[in-house]
Amino acid sequence: MGESIYDRLKNIVGEKNISDNFFELVNNSLDPFPYDFDLDKDVLPYAVVKPKDEKEISEIFRLANQENIAVYPRGSGTSLTGSARAPERGIILNTGRIDFLEIHTDEGYFECGPGATVDAVDTALSRKGFFLPVYPGSRLVATMGGMMAGNTSGHIIDACIGKPADYVLGLHVVLPTGGILETGSKGLRKPAGTDLTKFFVGNDGLTGIVTKIRMRLVPARKRAFGIAYYHEPESVAKAVVRMYREKAPAPLFMEFMDRATTTIGFEHAGLSVPPGCSIFFASFGPTTEIASENVQRLLDVMGKEDPIQVEEIKDLEEWLKIWTAREVIIASLMQKHDGYFSGPEIVSTLSKLVECIKELEHYGEKAPIFKGLPFYLLGHIGALTFHPTLIVPRDWDNERRRRLVDAEFEIESEMNLRYGTCGGEWLQFGKRTQFFKKRYGVGAYNLIKQIKRVFDPKDILNRGVLEGL
Ligand SMILES: Cc1cc2nc3c(=O)[nH]c(=O)nc-3n(C[C@H](O)[C@H](O)[C@H](O)COP(=O)(O)OP(=O)(O)OC[C@H]3O[C@@H](n4cnc5c(N)ncnc54)[C@H](O)[C@@H]3O)c2cc1C
Repeated sequence: MGESIYDRLKNIVGEKNISDNFFELVNNSLDPFPYDFDLDKDVLPYAVVKPKDEKEISEIFRLANQENIAVYPRGSGTSLTGSARAPERGIILNTGRIDFLEIHTDEGYFECGPGATVDAVDTALSRKGFFLPVYPGSRLVATMGGMMAGNTSGHIIDACIGKPADYVLGLHVVLPTGGILETGSKGLRKPAGTDLTKFFVGNDGLTGIVTKIRMRLVPARKRAFGIAYYHEPESVAKAVVRMYREKAPAPLFMEFMDRATTTIGFEHAGLSVPPGCSIFFASFGPTTEIASENVQRLLDVMGKEDPIQVEEIKDLEEWLKIWTAREVIIASLMQKHDGYFSGPEIVSTLSKLVECIKELEHYGEKAPIFKGLPFYLLGHIGALTFHPTLIVPRDWDNERRRRLVDAEFEIESEMNLRYGTCGGEWLQFGKRTQFFKKRYGVGAYNLIKQIKRVFDPKDILNRGVLEGL
């Protein structure tokens, strides 16, 4: 990029909001994958820009179109499918400055910028008695813009309250051509029929940059909590199948940790180590009594699959300790083994959940490169999702770490194809592009390419991500 482009970008965002400092470039280019950039490939971005609003983003896109330079929006860079790692030299557009939140209690919605963190929005809503239906494990740093690109509810169980898209009333979007678009409604009823909002929620960041998100306010509910311990993961899976088949109320959260994971998590949280693997859940309702009745109903179901113990957790502090054990488990595992974490997202169907968990107990044997690595099985089992997790030694060379991640995505693809599912969190392209083609067919993939071309004729936005990484 000639100096003049840098200067033109600087003219748009101001000197303080552009950088080509090496560390800033690297910081805005890496993601949680346990391997580094291949600097030899010269993919380091030209510049990181931090625009303040949609007008500046529009100008950046007009410039990028004129000069045919790719633009990569970036929230906090925690995406686990490679989409936060620019595959081509381009401009990194960091959304961090578009960080606002307005809670319109009288109108029944809130509006926020894409750079607001999920945690900041959730905390502010909680203070006013509302609840954000989004809870990724990365929420302390993950942005609302990144969440929109994935339409991810995180740990929250879809069967309980759905996906964020169900709550989005409207958006402001900057198109890759520079056009500015408003979608949806300011009323509490989402548009019926054609609604352009749908092209931008869960768009893998391919069709436009979301600059304002309007979501319905959801009143906070009372919560109650339960836990069950089992000798074998198989019994946990049977209990979850039973929960759905016996029409028990789907919980808000329902997490599973195998015996080894439970032991480490509970030890770290200062809890006594339970005798087996664990499944713990939160139900909610308009009153504490109703939430507690829901928990009792779930415990009845759990009790039919030969548990070691089932109990309602009445002490909020105890629940918070157990929840913390889960919240920080990846950090706990990394600390224990002094390594990096890596792991895919395997989703089962209900009828095959038992088969799936049994297969995943042997995940560590699925590829020669996994041999000898510490392995842990956990996941959002209420959503039938597993994260088999490996800890990768720090002294492995970069190429070996990269091959490990590729092997994991191959296994993810093979298993999700066999089980007839797909990733229910994270995103669908990047490392998952080959899976998408196999799962839905090349025709479906080409359709997505055509849709992208309509919004982005010069393929400026997130160039290369749809093609696969
Ligand atoms: C420890 C850890 C735990 C995690 N737990 C979960 C979990 O429980 N559930 C879950 O679903 N995910 C989880 N994730 C991954 C998850 O995808 C991200 O954490 C999060 O949703 C992405 O937000 P981000 O701000 O980091 O987006 P980024 O990674 O910065 O971006 C992701 C994609 O969105 C695009 N994008 C960003 N902002 C915009 C915008 N304003 N408009 C259009 N496109 C945009 C980017 O270009 C990129 O393609 C976890 C990740 C980590 C590291």
